[in-house]
Amino acid sequence: MVTDPKPKNSWILPRLDFRVEDLGHQGAELFFRQISNPYDAMKSAVEASWKWLYGWNEGIVLDNDRDNQVMKPPLAVQRVKRITLTLRPMDGVAYTFGSDDGSEKEVHFSLKHIVNSYKGDTDDKKNARVREEILGVLTHEIVHCYQYNGQGTAPGGLIEGIADCVRLHANFSPPHWKRIAPKGKHVPEPNGKWTWDWNWDAGYERTAYFLDWIDTTSETWSHPHILRDSEPSKAISSTKSAPSSSTSTVPVPHQISPSISDPSPPIGRGLFFRALNARLEEYKWDPEVDLFLQLTNWPRETLWEAYCLDNGPG
Ligand SMILES: [Zn+2]
Repeated sequence: MVTDPKPKNSWILPRLDFRVEDLGHQGAELFFRQISNPYDAMKSAVEASWKWLYGWNEGIVLDNDRDNQVMKPPLAVQRVKRITLTLRPMDGVAYTFGSDDGSEKEVHFSLKHIVNSYKGDTDDKKNARVREEILGVLTHEIVHCYQYNGQGTAPGGLIEGIADCVRLHANFSPPHWKRIAPKGKHVPEPNGKWTWDWNWDAGYERTAYFLDWIDTTSETWSHPHILRDSEPSKAISSTKSAPSSSTSTVPVPHQISPSISDPSPPIGRGLFFRALNARLEEYKWDPEVDLFLQLTNWPRETLWEAYCLDNGPG
């Protein structure tokens, strides 16, 4: 890990703007009590997005400019010229939108939500909670400024899951987030399959923990896989022809043992959702094409079933 805190060469921070509507709102007061420098908060969120989506600051040389050790920024990073954060009284939590050419991004963040997140037994806990929530939501929204979305075709749940995966890896996950699986019901023969309360693309932390589980457990799978054996970009290019789906006949060999599953396992290195994001730059989402299979050698539905069983069906 490179310790240089500055973006490398061509990774240029966009202009960062900040606006507050209704400065007298309690949410604005709470915001400024916790975030003394909004520029630093926004910059950190941008850098977390670069780091977890693209490996920025890892010292990896991805282009041919080896002499200069320059890691070339992806298009998604190059095109963003300005991000505006607006705090305002509104329902909901936050949302992000942008100009057609992708150069201007705007994040609207609810002051009401900031007030609502001021919770805890003690003042210290309330303050810590509201700070974590502000930085966590900000990180999630800034990820939307930089992630790929299959040219607008990727499922919303996957987009939200990747954004929350970055939030999880940036250590801004709220206390109620847990790696949980939905309740499951096994449908007897002739179907012989599990059905679940919600699916892999439920979004937000539900999808985030599934993506992270793939990352953390894939090393224990006995079936050969490619994600861990190479950089994601190489994994992608080496799998232009998808592995045969005949690999789906065996369940994921990860030991399925719901009762001993660690309730707070370590999080992975984030390579899997980084690889997924990279895949969504070039390709439109096609329900017939299983990106999970291409990146791990295991079909998505098999991974999902193993995840649910590993994390304890209800
Ligand atoms: Zn979102």
